Amino acid sequence: MYDILIVGAGPAGASAALFAAKAGKQTLVLDHDKSITKKAWIKNHYGVPEIDGPELVAIGKKQAAEFGAKIVEGEALTIKKADEGFSVETENGVFEAKHIILATGLSIDLAEKLGVKTKDGSEPRIKRVIDADHNGRTSIEGVWAAGTCANVSVHTIITAGDGAKVAINVLSELNGERYVDHDLLKS
Ligand SMILES: Cc1cc2nc3c(=O)[nH]c(=O)nc-3n(C[C@H](O)[C@H](O)[C@H](O)COP(=O)(O)OP(=O)(O)OC[C@H]3O[C@@H](n4cnc5c(N)ncnc54)[C@H](O)[C@@H]3O)c2cc1C
Repeated sequence: MYDILIVGAGPAGASAALFAAKAGKQTLVLDHDKSITKKAWIKNHYGVPEIDGPELVAIGKKQAAEFGAKIVEGEALTIKKADEGFSVETENGVFEAKHIILATGLSIDLAEKLGVKTKDGSEPRIKRVIDADHNGRTSIEGVWAAGTCANVSVHTIITAGDGAKVAINVLSELNGERYVDHDLLKS
């Protein structure tokens, strides 16, 4: 049983995964490599003068993996409520987790199949999104949403930040206190 299972390894999902794994939680990421970010040439990401989308996505996945997140390629097909947490059926088997973070970009199919409440998107060209509150909570307890599928502004700095924010909220709930991840510069 994973603590946190994240569907999507674009900026939102990989950012959530690196926070979750760095916090010592058993973290699984499922991704079928259809990130819209792989079409981008990015010059507006704070701290990064310019980078192409495929490289940003590759670095994000590498960071998450280096902190201990397991990344499994393939499509997540269905999510079902289990006795404890959730059971996720994929092309490569079934995985169980206490919390789910949906970071599925343009697709909300998985959320709709699970019965998560959705709504019209407000960003340009984004038709439907998951109806999540400002913490990333959806209409189903234990299922969270981050990034484009959660109706945030479609920019990598914002979707990545939103993934981090939602992961911090899940970590805070798992730990029973607000979670902060600060590393200190050695003098
Ligand atoms: C042409 C183009 C140019 C852009 N240029 C810029 C720019 O210059 N600057 C900027 O800031 N932003 C730009 N963007 C926007 C930016 O890419 C997005 O706003 C944002 O980064 C999306 O991040 P995300 O993690 O929400 O979604 P995505 O990056 O789309 O990631 C979603 C991931 O979820 C996975 N997934 C979905 N469903 C499933 C499933 N059922 N099972 C397994 N995996 C699943 C997909 O495979 C994908 O990898 C551009 C976008 C496009 C299309």
